[in-house]
Amino acid sequence: MGGKLIFSLWENWRRRRVLRKHRIPADLWSMAMRQVRAVAHLSDADRGRLRNLASLFLHDKYIEPAQGLELTDAMRVRIASEASIPILNLDLEHYHAWYTVIVYPAQFVAHDEFIDAAGVVHRHRSVRAGEAWHRGPVVISWEDVIAEDAGHNVIIHEAAHKLDMLDGVANGRPPIHRSMNQDQWTAVLSEAYDRHVADIDAGRCTEIDAYAAKDPAEFFAVASEAFFEIPHVLKRVWPDVYSQLVLFYGQQTATSD
Ligand SMILES: [Zn+2]
Repeated sequence: MGGKLIFSLWENWRRRRVLRKHRIPADLWSMAMRQVRAVAHLSDADRGRLRNLASLFLHDKYIEPAQGLELTDAMRVRIASEASIPILNLDLEHYHAWYTVIVYPAQFVAHDEFIDAAGVVHRHRSVRAGEAWHRGPVVISWEDVIAEDAGHNVIIHEAAHKLDMLDGVANGRPPIHRSMNQDQWTAVLSEAYDRHVADIDAGRCTEIDAYAAKDPAEFFAVASEAFFEIPHVLKRVWPDVYSQLVLFYGQQTATSD
């Protein structure tokens, strides 16, 4: 037997064992399903699979409060369920490179440092709703998790960055599936990105968040938020981007109802 097969047999056994003991209780799960908008396209069977995946996520990852936030089981379940939506048809293995979600009560100040070509160190302070560290934790603001802000989902945004980073760099080109076409992915996303940048530069109003114009990595993360939160808008504005994300995430989010 190959190593990969042994791993997957062992992993399947481990998951069944975890789920027998630690499946998210029904009351907490139904509460989460009432709160989370990005599950609208999922059938009952899909939601059952999502419950299992979220239970495994809760068991395998640490969700840590920061700055005195009181983190309840209901909050943990909501975070785990939203984080599991993008990988519902990809598998938990896609999150193998990180273990921790740090939850701030509200937006937090991040300190960035970079050294320019002349060797000068620049330090920036910026206020953020979330961030995904390369080989490190995902950091989110709870206030932004629960914000009723159409098209936005800070957890899905940071999860998309994590998927993008699977090949080492966040550049809007996550490792795509063998059945997909890399040239097509790049052509579709960069064309939409260029159009978005041109719209923002010209001061035109856009239905997709202007932040997507920051760079191709943010474009992919923001498009992913829109794919799960406002799929009909994304499909209308950028039908080709929507189609590529259907192939990548393996989900049809713009259902007819
Ligand atoms: Zn981002």
